[in-house]
Amino acid sequence: MTETSPVCTKCAKRDSIYFRPYSGERLCPTCFKRSLKERVERTIARFEMLEHDSRVAVGVSGGKDSLGLLHILAEIERSYPKAEIIAVSIDEGVRGYRDEAISIATEACGDLGVEHLVISFKELFGVTMDEIAASTRELGACTYCGVLRRRALNEAAMRVEADRLATGHTLDDMAQTALLNVLRGDVNSLSRVNPGGSDLPGFVRRIKPYCEVPERESALYAYLEGFRFQELPCPYTGEAMRNDVRGFLNRMEITRPGTMFTVYRTAIKLTPERGETTMMGTCSKCGEPTTGTVCRACQLIDGLREQGPKNA
Ligand SMILES: [Zn+2]
Ligand SMILES: [Zn+2]
Repeated sequence: MTETSPVCTKCAKRDSIYFRPYSGERLCPTCFKRSLKERVERTIARFEMLEHDSRVAVGVSGGKDSLGLLHILAEIERSYPKAEIIAVSIDEGVRGYRDEAISIATEACGDLGVEHLVISFKELFGVTMDEIAASTRELGACTYCGVLRRRALNEAAMRVEADRLATGHTLDDMAQTALLNVLRGDVNSLSRVNPGGSDLPGFVRRIKPYCEVPERESALYAYLEGFRFQELPCPYTGEAMRNDVRGFLNRMEITRPGTMFTVYRTAIKLTPERGETTMMGTCSKCGEPTTGTVCRACQLIDGLREQGPKNA
């Protein structure tokens, strides 16, 4: 024990390396990693995310959150002999950024002995993000990327015949989305937060087992486990309003620890019950499931064709 690092609150043996402001705990590396894994397990149980024989596609971007989730799910899977994990990655076609992330993801899957499928925007939609960014006028590149990546992940999960699609959304992402919905007045989305996902025809059920893990702890986990992940931010600047909300929540979390949990839990409380069904039809253009007549992905791709090149 040293003067500067008080002993771990949990084991009362080892030196702590992390203070958890929202709970007052001081944790050593072993207890921290264990507590993170236990939290993910509790989240999975609470939202009934998995069956003992689930075939789980894990969306792996190459960033710390999705790789951390892959590590933890791979560890959990060892206690369920009938369950299976397959990593899926989407190559959006962002040169110098995504190619690096994909090679990191491939390396991690090799180390963990997890099968890995990569599919690209080019293959699915005939266009890369770099091409979209060069031609989009009205909507930011991230709007396209978000919608198309969602579609691509579903397609990848179907190809590997998964019955679950797990993504690395963290507590920060959940709180940001909830607050964004408040700021946009989107009551519908605000009251439909279900990290356990629901069964919709044509969609692989989406689950978010990392939804109660703060991004800061995800980063510490990656560091302690010592795995490589992509640290470069995407060259496209992100959604302006989300960036503002992220900054605000990060500042609030410092002065009022636990703010993100409060915002997230409020959204969960507003959601009446799980397993709510939405009426789904199929897109008249591509045949994928949608609530309208033409799906959002087709609307965006058609919009790009009509716009033509940006500087023409
Ligand atoms: Zn400890
Ligand atoms: Zn469509």
